[in-house]
Amino acid sequence: ASGTAGAGEGPDNLAGVKRIIAVGSGKGGVGKSTVSANLAVSLAALGWRVGLVDADIFGPSIPLLFGAEGYRPKGAFIPLEAHGVKVMSIGFLVDPAKAVVWRGPMVTGALMQLVRDTQWGPLDALLIDLPPGTGDIQLSLSQRVALTGAVVVTTPQDLALIDVRKATNMFEAVKVPVLGMVENMATFVCPNCGTETDIFGHGGGEREAEAEGVPFLGRIPLTRAIRDASDNGRPIATDPASPEGKAYAAIAAELV
Ligand code: ADP
Repeated sequence: ASGTAGAGEGPDNLAGVKRIIAVGSGKGGVGKSTVSANLAVSLAALGWRVGLVDADIFGPSIPLLFGAEGYRPKGAFIPLEAHGVKVMSIGFLVDPAKAVVWRGPMVTGALMQLVRDTQWGPLDALLIDLPPGTGDIQLSLSQRVALTGAVVVTTPQDLALIDVRKATNMFEAVKVPVLGMVENMATFVCPNCGTETDIFGHGGGEREAEAEGVPFLGRIPLTRAIRDASDNGRPIATDPASPEGKAYAAIAAELV
């Protein structure tokens, strides 16, 4: 399958890629990158060959999540392989401090290159961790990459839900099927007493998915283990027996 509209000369690095799935969110900080990283690891554990592009130019966190901050591909765009996933990040190539002052078309150009020029080899799925929001960069990328579908991430909070609807609408406007919604930071389970607290409200993501007529893929709790594992460069999904690992695996299973 040709991965991009108007792909240029040279070998098509997306020729062996079966599905391209964007992971988007209406706003930043809802856990889109954390979900992308863990979904990639869970899909790999289910036997898929998985690639992950970190296209979040405003805050490339995939290098940290995969413990690969120092990685610099030399010459050709060879992805890093970590935890069973082929990873390429804008953070491997450019200094994010410089990139944030680029104009939209430059950002889109750099991200297109990242998707198209990386030597992915055969993959069952390539996930793209998009920048947060629904601006011109997200829109151009969604139009120019032949996306199989999109996953949208939200928290149960009203503020996030208003914005996730914009993300769903954006994908629908460019005829990219929304594969489903993930509710992140659902319930907080106190590690000391086990009390469950719905810090950002309860069930908002599921209700929103229903209202928008898109599948609800599942919810991920707000836990310290997720944050710790992320900061240690080892997504929690690498521990499939953990409650969090099971939650990500259940969502991955919805996609295969
Ligand atoms: P985004 O990509 O939407 O900006 P991130 O994935 O970078 O968000 O997550 C923002 C912060 O929240 C990070 O510090 C991350 O470790 C933390 N985080 C994300 N999801 C969870 C969760 N379910 N439980 C605990 N911490 C989380």
